[in-house]
Amino acid sequence: VKGEFEKALPVLETLQAAGFEAYFVGGSVRDALLGKTVNDVDIATSAFPEEIKRLFRRTVDVGIEHGTVMVLLDDESYEVTTFRTESTYQDYRRPDSVTFVRSLEEDLKRRDLTINAFAMDNKGNIQDFFDGERDLKEQIIRAVGKPEERFHEDALRMMRAVRFASQLGFQLEADTFYAIVVNAHLLENIAVERIQVEFVKMAMGEYVLQGMEAFFTTSLYAHCPGLKYGKVALRRFSLISRPLKKERHVWALLLYFMGVNDPKEAAAFLKYWRLSNQLITDSVKLLELILYRHHYPLNHYIVYTFSPPLIWEAEDLLQMLKLPFDKRTAARLILTLPIQSREELAINGRIIMEETDSRGGPWLGEAIQVAEKAVVLGAIENKTEPILNWLKESKYI
Ligand code: ATP
Ligand code: MG
Repeated sequence: VKGEFEKALPVLETLQAAGFEAYFVGGSVRDALLGKTVNDVDIATSAFPEEIKRLFRRTVDVGIEHGTVMVLLDDESYEVTTFRTESTYQDYRRPDSVTFVRSLEEDLKRRDLTINAFAMDNKGNIQDFFDGERDLKEQIIRAVGKPEERFHEDALRMMRAVRFASQLGFQLEADTFYAIVVNAHLLENIAVERIQVEFVKMAMGEYVLQGMEAFFTTSLYAHCPGLKYGKVALRRFSLISRPLKKERHVWALLLYFMGVNDPKEAAAFLKYWRLSNQLITDSVKLLELILYRHHYPLNHYIVYTFSPPLIWEAEDLLQMLKLPFDKRTAARLILTLPIQSREELAINGRIIMEETDSRGGPWLGEAIQVAEKAVVLGAIENKTEPILNWLKESKYI
């Protein structure tokens, strides 16, 4: 037991000293056994939420109805969840109620995949009721229990199976694979937000070719928002060089391969996928930049209006797409931008109104805008006098 787990040991030991069972569970144990870096460790315990809260000085109720209490210790926080079973699954979605239990095995039984269903105690011993360690060694994605039943309980698990195939490069076990083929349509009952999370993880997976193969052959892709006819686009997407650094790169590239070139249409597609507004804006900007760069070189004004990070990322994506790109020019333009934002402009509405001794109006905004563009493009120096003179000569004020 080391690293992130070691720091969390006091939580396990406090629970154990009080007579409860407590284990590390879920993705953190899987990643540790795979030799990957572990970020947040999850803890499962036989203690009920009220019992957990009594044992620790600082706790936060983050999901107490699901049995999760956040324990704050030193600078860290840990999610401690009571062993539970899930019941009354309706419409192939997450259960509407959970039942707390005292048995680890019952808790592990409700988990999705064998490689996500073992537990590790404070000594580093693994509790593995479903041969998850064997599947990890043999690189197999297998549902816990009867795959068909498990996908009926929660259809998102099918997406999770494929995304782990993409992240880990594992193969789907035959029964699990077949159950996805038969039940892929059930994905349509799942909230798009939840599908989105798994889709992005799949799309960014290190073994995306393998993940995409499973996504196609099971037909899962056809039940994702707006992807019914997206197979060719997805295939092309999966073939470009990796890794993708950001979520917005996934969406910009996917839109590009889908041949969407109207920003409004692109935004509508992403809205349908329930992306945040910020992510929609940035992804669409990246798409616009890629398309713009098919025809035009970069200039200071483009860099200024789209922001340096997006400019740089667009050149990166062009390179991945094996299209003409120009990082040297991008870097030079970014480093030599005369101003970064309108606040840095040496004039503003007040200065112009004083100079011209007149009141505001639409003309004022227009004047500021042309001055801004002229400064950004280097046509005038960013100094008050030259800008005012230039605006007068050009009859803007
Ligand atoms: P990641 O490293 O991407 O966080 P993870 O395996 O930790 O992967 P989480 O979504 O954080 O995934 O879930 C934590 C654990 O909860 C999983 O390892 C699994 O045991 C269980 N789990 C998560 N989602 C489901 C689900 N839909 N059905 C059953 N068990 C699930
Ligand atoms: Mg996790």
